[in-house]
Amino acid sequence: MGVTMTIELLSHFLPDTKNLKLHSWQFDDSQATITLIVASTPHVVNCPVCNSLTHKIHSHYERRLTDLPWANYKIILRLHVRKFFCLNKACPRRIFTERLSKVTTPWARRTERLTSRLTSIALALGGAAGERLSQDLGYKASRNTLLGLIRKLPLPSSPDPKTLGVDDFAFCKRQKYGTILVDLDKSCPVALLPDRNADTLAQWLNQHPNIQVLSRDRSRTYKSAMDIGAPQAIQVADRFHILQNLKEVLEKVFQAHKDNLKTVDTNYRFESVNNSSSEEIVPVPPPVSETKVEQRKQQHRTKRLAIYNQIWKLHKKCWPTSKIAQKVGVSTRTVQRYLHMPNFPERQTRSDRGKSCLLNPYKEYLLQLWNSGEHKPKKIFRKLQKKGYHGSYMTVNRYIHRLCQAQGWELSKPPKTLKLPQVADPQKPPLTPRRAAWLVLIPLEKRDSDSEKLVEQLMVQHPDLYAAINLAQDFTQIVRQRHHEIFDIWLQQALHSNLAPFQNFVIGIKEDYDAVKAAVTLPVSNSPVEGHINRLKMLTAKAATL
Ligand SMILES: [Zn+2]
Repeated sequence: MGVTMTIELLSHFLPDTKNLKLHSWQFDDSQATITLIVASTPHVVNCPVCNSLTHKIHSHYERRLTDLPWANYKIILRLHVRKFFCLNKACPRRIFTERLSKVTTPWARRTERLTSRLTSIALALGGAAGERLSQDLGYKASRNTLLGLIRKLPLPSSPDPKTLGVDDFAFCKRQKYGTILVDLDKSCPVALLPDRNADTLAQWLNQHPNIQVLSRDRSRTYKSAMDIGAPQAIQVADRFHILQNLKEVLEKVFQAHKDNLKTVDTNYRFESVNNSSSEEIVPVPPPVSETKVEQRKQQHRTKRLAIYNQIWKLHKKCWPTSKIAQKVGVSTRTVQRYLHMPNFPERQTRSDRGKSCLLNPYKEYLLQLWNSGEHKPKKIFRKLQKKGYHGSYMTVNRYIHRLCQAQGWELSKPPKTLKLPQVADPQKPPLTPRRAAWLVLIPLEKRDSDSEKLVEQLMVQHPDLYAAINLAQDFTQIVRQRHHEIFDIWLQQALHSNLAPFQNFVIGIKEDYDAVKAAVTLPVSNSPVEGHINRLKMLTAKAATL
């Protein structure tokens, strides 16, 4: 095949067969690269500013563009492009570079068609997975390049949503928060606002006057933004947050009845390890928190509670955030955070206490050693190390102390009797106030016999627990099944219970009565925020931080 014929054939593969001419090509087998030397051909071009035609060339230069690979060969276009004079005297632009809209964009280093392939990959797979596939296909694009391509895409235009879900999400936890707006009919996010201030949201709502239903958490900020920005819309407190608040209320009640929880937990632990065997087995007790740690925690809590109450007191007196921050001696961010929370936020204790990830895989072996009579911590530690354990000695030692506790002796005073009961580790986590609250609020259809039994046992421990669990379960029914006809009756019951957390909960609801009532009244399709925003929050927050 002659050179002319090859060039003619190769010309068919150029990104713009009409305006580009292939002059020659270089083949580099060692680099697996084919370089095409190409020039643009039009004699006259349009000025990008005034659109008038010109033919007067100012200069030439060369651009290097990566194009789609051919088989396993990388394709480089060495593109000769020209600069032109604009002949229109009135035009502010004197010299411009010719535009090759079918081939590439100004400043780009790859052709449009390669960019469009990469964009498709990025949209389908996102950053990391997209990077792996594009490497496999020979495109060589990094994670950040792919994400950058997604960001450059214009937003799809859609008609104003009728039902809008509003929630905050973290760009970076504890540092920067934004607001996510979700079209709840179509289940897709429509906007991300850069902060969670009332003004920003009100302004957005003003520009979208067709919204009929607004779903939100129970913060005053969003409420006031909606009152101003979309007075025509019905506000609905979203059910996910209402149940979240209820869970916190329940946790407080359980917090006050920790001893009852412990009784239930201990019974359960004994039962769960003694199911199948006639031999006596004792369960490993839950890790105990040291009293000092507990005291310090209590002190911190008192201090935080005082700050929380003072912030709300000043807020109710209409003090601006910055003044409150100054007076109380905290950052404005803390003030804003607390004002977002209708109830005092309890510090969450670490849920992985006593569950060392490093030790977990070796616990079975450790118990085997222990039950066969090996009681020396150092020896056990070394044996675990030989099996591959690379955690600390202290972790092992702490666990061994719990084993002694289970059998009723102390490590410093070895037992005289040789017959010790076997020790087993129950698989279920200890019954903390948080877990107990979670168990109570599991929807009926998802409850198993274990959780039901635990809840039943909790109820018979104390009249307060009986009342609290009943109130909570009734309320979840009202919310989940939309039993709005008994909503007011429930409020009365909760208010007249002897449980302060529930009374405060009712007071909170009464301050936002219309929105909460709407939440338990409107049919499912109007407020399916539960979980949904959460998932989107996760996705968007992830995308934003990548
Ligand atoms: Zn011009």
